[in-house]
Amino acid sequence: MVIFALQITLILTDIIHLLPDNIANQIAAGEVIQRPGSAVKELLENAVDANADEIKLIINDAGKALVQVIDNGKGMSETDARLAFERHATSKIKNIDDLFRIKTMGFRGEALASIAAVAQVELKTKRADDPTGTFVEIENSRVIKQEPVAFNKGTSIAMKNLFFNVPARRNFLKSNTAELRNIMDEFIRVAMAFPDIFFSLQSNGQEVFHLEKGSFKQRIVQILGNSYNAKLVSVHEETDYLNITGFVGKPETAKKTRGDQYLFVNNRFIKSAYLNHAIMNAFSEMIPKDSFPMYALFIDLDPAQLDINVHPTKQEIKFEDDKIVYAFVQSAVKHALAQFSITPTLDFELDPNIERLSALSNPVTEAQRASTASSSLFQTFSQKGQAHLIEKSDNLKHWKDFYEAPKTDNASTIEQQKQFEPLHKTYASEQPVMQLHQSNILIQDAEGFLLIHQQNAHERILYERYSAALSGKSIPIQQSLFPATIDLSASDAVLLTEMLDDMKELGYQLEPFGNNTFVIQGTPGDVDHGNEKTAIEKIIEQYKHFSSELKYSKREKLLRSMAIQNAIKPGKILTQKEMQSLVSDLFECEITNVTPNGKPTYLSFKKDEMDKMFGRG
Ligand code: ADP
Ligand code: MG
Repeated sequence: MVIFALQITLILTDIIHLLPDNIANQIAAGEVIQRPGSAVKELLENAVDANADEIKLIINDAGKALVQVIDNGKGMSETDARLAFERHATSKIKNIDDLFRIKTMGFRGEALASIAAVAQVELKTKRADDPTGTFVEIENSRVIKQEPVAFNKGTSIAMKNLFFNVPARRNFLKSNTAELRNIMDEFIRVAMAFPDIFFSLQSNGQEVFHLEKGSFKQRIVQILGNSYNAKLVSVHEETDYLNITGFVGKPETAKKTRGDQYLFVNNRFIKSAYLNHAIMNAFSEMIPKDSFPMYALFIDLDPAQLDINVHPTKQEIKFEDDKIVYAFVQSAVKHALAQFSITPTLDFELDPNIERLSALSNPVTEAQRASTASSSLFQTFSQKGQAHLIEKSDNLKHWKDFYEAPKTDNASTIEQQKQFEPLHKTYASEQPVMQLHQSNILIQDAEGFLLIHQQNAHERILYERYSAALSGKSIPIQQSLFPATIDLSASDAVLLTEMLDDMKELGYQLEPFGNNTFVIQGTPGDVDHGNEKTAIEKIIEQYKHFSSELKYSKREKLLRSMAIQNAIKPGKILTQKEMQSLVSDLFECEITNVTPNGKPTYLSFKKDEMDKMFGRG
């Protein structure tokens, strides 16, 4: 009987309970604070919202040990300093209508609560007119200490040991290089939008960015590097509905990776594939298909025309009418490019009238497309940056030197490729070769003929040459008599630093010179004089392209990047000697028939089969 009663109680017990605040906050933090960079974004935005004009970011151990933001903004009262860490505590909105009048970066009142749930936090803050400031220490969402403190006007928030209490999430953090890059991305996205605020970023005691107040253009150059100086086209259009200001890079600055593209709506960095498409369209005739122009554009419009509250980190937004914005952005960029007489499609005038805007988004006609593609301007752009053929005159092979037997002693690194590996080719005698469409090489062999893809073949050759160099076979280096320097953006400098040792073995002797500058002491013998900088920039670009490929080691990424970047491209006219050397080098490779990425280097056509096709077989 007693047992029976007990069972009843168990069944009837309610099972739902409210989570304690610290757990609820930890769960909510999953959305807002995913990695050190997310805290950087939130803390910087809070400092901007506090009207600071000086904001310093301090990072230790890629933000895993410390993320601290110090500002000279309006500070907080003693009570607010404590309240700020409660969930849904915000000074920025009062009611739901305010959501559509947002002028601040924050408004959800979640960031500080989230940070306090997953890290140890120390806050110091003081308003200008208060005699003393307030110090608050929080851990696991609980205030451990609160006391008066001497402090200047402003706020300092230090977030220590992120995820110290959520080990599973701490383990998910990436390498320091990856987290630091993410931090720099977030830092740049805020710093770019507010050129009248001083920003600095210090990482492990070293100042990585020091951005004095200045014009928007100066800010871009400070952040993205001096190479953009004199290469920016100003975009500026104002209408009743929206304004757009900012800069796009001249077409020649377009890169192979999507790096330098920034779009802001009401000063907020956003990601929008749709608007990116509009900008790419405006550039479409001026840059090669697979390259990306630089842009930093600011769209300003009535907050009522926007919904920023569709994403926890507010990187995606919804426009009331996104077609208008699309048409506007596209025509503003086209207009800017046209004014600098960079675009040949000068076929419109920008007009604030929305009806006319839609007409502007019509695609250009085929005729326009054709005439643009054949213009010398376009050709210049599309041929820019093509590497030169590497002359290997010292061991130039003749056809007769091609050997017949496959190598047996060399184990292939890539098993899969080996399966398809045909015999090395034999050639009867020295013979002329022919270049077709400036991209393929036609040669005869014993059984028929081969069509060699010049770029693919060269990629294979370079890849093997560089691999050999990394395993100790030296590469001829040309020392620079008057060493040039190369200025990089801070994040590119981090990447290059990561690659320095391996690059050295590959013939690039680069020395850090402070301030994201490197001195080029020497380059591989095959890099054309005057081309050193471009060659290095391209390797970095290509390396970034591979940076998400987890399956490759750092070295492998570098090898592939260099092979791809330095390979001759279609469109390069080759001499007989160059072609013969290319073919001979190809068939000396360990693997001859595919590029490192698995594209065929040549196609083989058999005479027998051809005879059959001609009805003679
Ligand atoms: P939100 O920014 O969405 O309001 P947060 O959790 O980021 O939410 O911040 C909560 C509140 O704390 C803010 O609304 C603001 O009043 C105050 N606050 C945060 N950071 C600062 C700062 N650096 N200076 C002054 N006040 C701040
Ligand atoms: Mg905030």
